[in-house]
Amino acid sequence: MVATPAHRETAVAADIPALDKMLDHAAFASALARHGRTELTLMLRSRLDRLRAQIVAGSVERTMLVPERIAQDIAEELETRHRPRLRAVFNLTGTVLHTNLGRATLPQAAVAAVVQAMTAPVNLEFDLQAGVRGDRDDLVEGLICELTGAEAAIVVNNNAAAVLLMLNTLANRREVIVSRGELVEIGGAFRIPDVMRSAGARLVEVGTTNRTHATDYEGAINPRTAMLMKVHTSNYAISGYTADVDIGALVEIGRAHGVPLAVDLGSGSLVDLAHWNLPKEPTVRETLAAGADLVAFSADKLLGGPQAGIIAGRVELVRRLKKNPLKRALRVGKLTLAALEPVLALYRAPDLLAQRLTSLRLLTRTEAAIGAQAQRLWPALQTALGDAYEATTAAMASQIGSGALPVGRLASQGFAIRRHKGRGSLDRLEAALRELPRPVISRIADKTLWLDLRCLEEVDEAAFAAQLPLLRP
Ligand SMILES: *Cc1c(COP(=O)(O)O)cnc(C)c1O
Repeated sequence: MVATPAHRETAVAADIPALDKMLDHAAFASALARHGRTELTLMLRSRLDRLRAQIVAGSVERTMLVPERIAQDIAEELETRHRPRLRAVFNLTGTVLHTNLGRATLPQAAVAAVVQAMTAPVNLEFDLQAGVRGDRDDLVEGLICELTGAEAAIVVNNNAAAVLLMLNTLANRREVIVSRGELVEIGGAFRIPDVMRSAGARLVEVGTTNRTHATDYEGAINPRTAMLMKVHTSNYAISGYTADVDIGALVEIGRAHGVPLAVDLGSGSLVDLAHWNLPKEPTVRETLAAGADLVAFSADKLLGGPQAGIIAGRVELVRRLKKNPLKRALRVGKLTLAALEPVLALYRAPDLLAQRLTSLRLLTRTEAAIGAQAQRLWPALQTALGDAYEATTAAMASQIGSGALPVGRLASQGFAIRRHKGRGSLDRLEAALRELPRPVISRIADKTLWLDLRCLEEVDEAAFAAQLPLLRP
């Protein structure tokens, strides 16, 4: 069908095959079956247009117009175009709960529940006992109360939404007192003063950056005060000459003046991490037991669940949160609730949690186990790197991440990769790692590229090693 005169090598415009004939050529059959006629026509038309322009420039060889050749080029183009933008990566940054890499990875129990909620109708807002309309928060409220000692709880899109909802419901056009030592910015656009403004609340700052006292709060209370708020300084630590007011003391001040205390706990652990020799974080239960009226925390940080924000606390305050029209805008979908319920349920067996909850399992991997893994993987890695780079197994420190425990570090192991005899380039290597079929995310510091193996679980080890020969450093 396609004329390919034998007497010349360089193509002329007349050599370009007709689009319709091309589509019916056997070389396009599999692309047609996979992508359909509409998309293939678009791709083919733009390919032929480009070839036409190149022919005018006199740079096209006849062989490039053979249908098989064009079909192959288009198949490659289609593959790139259809590759999902959201992809699985290997997180070897050393930060376990990495916000840019999607924070907590979920345990299998959650995966099964999400698949079910995606593929079957579910009782999202339907009371199966009474046969009437229900409330989606009821699905997890009981569990949250059981695990935290709260009277009531609701779930919203994330912790930023939780803080916004608390402020807008309880302090719209009124004042909220916060210590100057707690006016945090969480990565991205969450800054306490900005959230206050968006919620319609007026921020009253008290104390100083390093020291705030009970008298500072007391002196700021007036009839316009709607609440006291304490914010976990998630991603930084102030050390040296410091003072802050603990929850118990703030509760007393609030009660004396009839003002509730809300706490933005940030990461909000449900269990005492000290049990696993991890740095201590305040738990939601402790915070409520100390008298906080409402506590807001993320579900995808230390809790290890899907992205969501939870507010737990006094029933009459939670009831008001539920009635705020903003709640409708900030609520979570069925997939989030499907994932959250089984994750929360794992906390009923705290003794088994470090095996079952993915994030805790990663945080509690021992340096010895990670080191043994580094030994196993080293030969394949060094071979893949070639002689421009030198990899050594090395001790390093992982971070928990997501603003939890900013100064706590976990002893870990992995690889330190350096250029060999001035050859290679760490930036190039870092990019080459990202170009692997399942991109590997690393970290460069001190003229060294670091691969922390803490988050490479043993089940993924073979897949990691299998793609190393594809590395083009
Ligand atoms: C992480 C964090 C937030 C924001 O939580 P998201 O779940 O990311 O919306 C708010 N406050 C504190 C103290 C945090 O640590």
